[in-house]
Amino acid sequence: MRKPALMGNWKMNKDLSSAISFVGEFFKLAPDVGGRIDIVLFPPFPLIKPIVDAIRKGARWSDLVEVGAQDMHPAEHGAFTGAVSGLCIKSVGADYVIVGHSERRWIFGDTDTAVNSKLRAAIALTLHPILCVGETLETRKAGMHFVFLQSQLDAAFAEIDPAKATDVSIAYEPIWAIGTGVNATPVEVGPMIEMIRRWADGAGFPGGGNSLRILYGGSVNEQNSAGLYAVDGVDGFLVGGASLEAFTFAAILDLMKKGKK
Ligand code: PEP
Repeated sequence: MRKPALMGNWKMNKDLSSAISFVGEFFKLAPDVGGRIDIVLFPPFPLIKPIVDAIRKGARWSDLVEVGAQDMHPAEHGAFTGAVSGLCIKSVGADYVIVGHSERRWIFGDTDTAVNSKLRAAIALTLHPILCVGETLETRKAGMHFVFLQSQLDAAFAEIDPAKATDVSIAYEPIWAIGTGVNATPVEVGPMIEMIRRWADGAGFPGGGNSLRILYGGSVNEQNSAGLYAVDGVDGFLVGGASLEAFTFAAILDLMKKGKK
């Protein structure tokens, strides 16, 4: 059984006080999903510990909302000014990490090899990795989106034993849909999710592709989430912009609580 998940990537937004306010507001607004949906917040690095502490103080929420990092360096320590290791992330109470987000790939130059190193390190540290994959608009227009995704998956999982990677969630995030207000439609998302599952079948994941949690990300909001959640095989969302306001994030959770149509 794949557990659905709603994940909020705050990117480089919020400061300490607005982040803490978010947690308080979210606790007031969010429906009780009784642990049936994983809820994960990805604040900027310095806010991880304060958010972990705020959640722990949240009584009934303390086990229901988890925290992750938006990126990590594959090494455990060393002379890498400005970088943060998975070990450090874990030490402040985060259990999840995003790997290969398109903003890391395209703005900060993370190569497929770097993504593979980060994924391996996250798995070794038993952090839950969210591997992001997704094509550009040009790639889609050229009809190469399936091939492109497959190559990103092959590269990310190179020399990783699928039996040790069962904790990895995959986020299908077409780059043209991220932060643009133009989400991929259910008709566009469905075949990509199916392709990822068939890829995982071939890659030898124990339990096959159907055991893998796959999220959609790209301009998800409270209006389009119902249609996207109804897509066969979509197990939830990685949300950017709409995760910054507690009421929109809670509204998406509320919709997911109603189940898949
Ligand atoms: C993201 O950054 O992972 C994302 C999906 O952003 P947005 O929801 O703002 O498109």
